[in-house]
Amino acid sequence: MIETFRAHCPRCDGERKCIIHGQFDQPWSVEDGRNYMDGQIDRKLLQCAGCETVFYHQSSWNSEEWDNDYHPVTGETIISHPRTIETYPAPEKKSQKPDWIWDIAKADPPLHAILYEVYQAYEAGSFILASVGLRTAFDRTTEILKINSHLSFEDKVVELTKEGYIGETEANTLSVVTNAGNAAAHRGWAPDRKTFEILIATLEQYIYRVVVTGKAALDLSGNIPARPPRAKKQPKPTA
Ligand SMILES: [Zn+2]
Repeated sequence: MIETFRAHCPRCDGERKCIIHGQFDQPWSVEDGRNYMDGQIDRKLLQCAGCETVFYHQSSWNSEEWDNDYHPVTGETIISHPRTIETYPAPEKKSQKPDWIWDIAKADPPLHAILYEVYQAYEAGSFILASVGLRTAFDRTTEILKINSHLSFEDKVVELTKEGYIGETEANTLSVVTNAGNAAAHRGWAPDRKTFEILIATLEQYIYRVVVTGKAALDLSGNIPARPPRAKKQPKPTA
């Protein structure tokens, strides 16, 4: 029989039914001769029945924090102790991160690891680190697409254009992403939030199209000739 518990899942960010994999409830008390204080810490290892994420859940109270209430009928005073809930990992802040980032965890774990840190830096307001991370993420996509790793960032953008992965407009915006990463890494340039949001939106669109929707997979078969860079999308000839 699987024991369950309702808790706020830090990943899918809502109250969910969770499987209890382990639990340990720990009452405690301290006394110094004059004062007495007690409480309890309930610890659980939970797994969300929705997204399957495993997380640590702690619910605690102590005798110093209490709420006063009155019984509606008898008028008696009722003391209750509010509980403090903590989870590890903590719930992610309201999503800067698009949900398809999770799909990248399966498609390419290194890229997912980079993006994960980019969003952490972004959410912490560390825009220099986040900008450098964007460039690193871009670089990882060029490895997935088997672009010559010895090329400079500028030449990688040119190569992607030649290979038909990106168009001219996107090449320009991706150049801004790599230049910004470079300026942040080497010249201490710090983008503000608004600028960074433009940069990350550009990279998100590119990664979504090239890595997530599988255009990369098509081209990796090696049988599809590269499109000329300026060519508009052409319908496939019917066989
Ligand atoms: Zn969940």
